[in-house]
Parts: sequence; C-alpha cells; structure tokens
Amino acid sequence: MTNTTTELEALLMQRSLTDPQLQSAAEAASDFRILPDATVIKIGGQSVIDRGRAAVYPLVDEIVAARKAHKLLIGTGAGTRARHLYSIAAGLCLPAGVLSQLGASVADQNAAMLGQLLAKHGISAVSSAGLSSVPLFLAEVNAVIFSGMPPYSLWMRPAAEGVIPPYRTDAGCFLVAEQFGCKAMIYVKDENGLYTANPKTAKNATFIPKISVTEMKVKGLQDSILEFPVLDLLAAARHVREVQIINGLVPGNLTRALAGEHVGTIITAS
Ligand code: ADP
Ligand code: MG
Repeated sequence: MTNTTTELEALLMQRSLTDPQLQSAAEAASDFRILPDATVIKIGGQSVIDRGRAAVYPLVDEIVAARKAHKLLIGTGAGTRARHLYSIAAGLCLPAGVLSQLGASVADQNAAMLGQLLAKHGISAVSSAGLSSVPLFLAEVNAVIFSGMPPYSLWMRPAAEGVIPPYRTDAGCFLVAEQFGCKAMIYVKDENGLYTANPKTAKNATFIPKISVTEMKVKGLQDSILEFPVLDLLAAARHVREVQIINGLVPGNLTRALAGEHVGTIITAS
C-alpha cells in the first residue's frame, strides 16, 4: 500500500494528470462501494408524476411498503413543465446552462411534492443527493428523496447541437447510483420498457426484454426511452453495469423489480 501511494504521489507531482501511467497507478486501489445496499429509483416526470394522483398515489404506497426491505434513494424527473420552459427559453436563444437551471427547478418541484406525500412516513426530501445527511436518512428510515437533475447548472456541457441540456434527470439519477456504488438503478416510467420503436406512436413496436448498450446503438435506439448520454455513462460504469426500466403504472412492478425480478427492460453495459 505504502509503495503504491508513494509511486502515485511521485507521478502526481511530475506528470500531467491524464498521463497513462498515472491513470493506472490511480486505479490500483481495490474496489469500494459507498452505499452498496441502496437502490436508486427514478420516478419519471413526464411519464409518471405529470399523470398526478392516479399514477403517483399507488407508487407512494409501494415505496412505503418496499422501504421496509430495501434502502431507497428516490430521484425525481422533470417532465412537461420543463419541456415548456425549454421551448420558451430556446425560443429566446438562451444557452444550455440556463435551460439546465430551469429544468432543475422542475425536478425540484417534483421532489418537493413527493416529499409532502411521504412526510408522514418519515421520508424526507433533501436538496441534494450529495448531502452528507443522505446516509443517515438511509440508516434511519431506509429512504430519501432527491431532485434528479445533475447540478451542472450553468456549467452544463452543451450538446453538439441545440440548447437542450443533454444530461437531465435520467443521467442525474444514474450518476448518483454509480458514484455511490449502489446495488441497482431502476427507472420507473409509463411503458413496459424498451420497444423497437416508440410504442406511443408505432403500433407494431415490439418489446425488448434485454439489450446491451452496443445493441441499442446498432438498432438506432440510443435516443429513445433513456436520455442518450446515459448509455455511455452505463458503458463506462464500474459499479452499476445494468439498469432496468419498468412500467410504474402497473401495480407491483416496482416491488418486484426491487426484489431483483426482471419485469421490464434490462439494459446492460456490455
Ligand atoms: P421520463 O418522464 O421518465 O423522463 P420520458 O417520457 O422522457 O420519461 O421517456 C419515456 C418515453 O419514451 C416513453 O413514454 C415512450 O413514449 C418514449 N419512447 C421513445 N422511444 C421509445 C422506445 N423505443 N421504447 C419505449 N419507449 C420509447
Ligand atoms: Mg425523460
């Protein structure tokens, strides 16, 4: 250990921080997961929360029951209000960083509402999943709610084209799961999972129960049910090597997915 640290320190003092030998010395430490028993679930904005009570109340009941057996980091999507904001702001020619701040405010609203619904069960919404109080909430009540937008804010890396922020709440929730080395990442949306085409518009779309990132790209499905940068984040991940997308409008699906069942589409890193 001492030797490795000394070598790494020497390299860090002398080399560029992207030097290959330095990179591999920095990789030498053995694997460590910060919150290995927790699962991140993302409650969709457009797909779930925007549907209001009919979709949200049953999920709240499932979450309350599930947290007896599972530790849950519950992230929120943004949805239709964010899309409305993006259309106005893009029309005003405002940049991606501004749109990112606007989108975050909507994910915040959804986290606030979910927080009110879960308050009587002792489950709190925090202003950031990165807060040091998150492990305490998980230890005490097995669950915590966070706003799913990654906090890049004005510093959002713009897409090659256009001003829509590429890293939105699907990416924000995935990054939380990966940083904390969580057990699983589950996206709760309004379709059974991935199809060969958007099932809302293509009547002959067929369901795909399991697929890899590479296969998804080959089939031209990279920009479909998840924000496309999530696929590259997943392919490069150390801990979270698959995600599952489930239909949260079907009662029991979340409970089954948390138990490790395959109820939706599983996307694998390789
Ligand atoms: P969220 O609100 O959770 O971010 P989105 O509405 O952004 O969810 O994404 C989910 C939607 O993606 C589905 O409701 C579906 O209409 C759409 N979609 C597009 N292409 C596909 C596809 N190939 N398979 C499944 N869903 C797709
Ligand atoms: Mg979305």
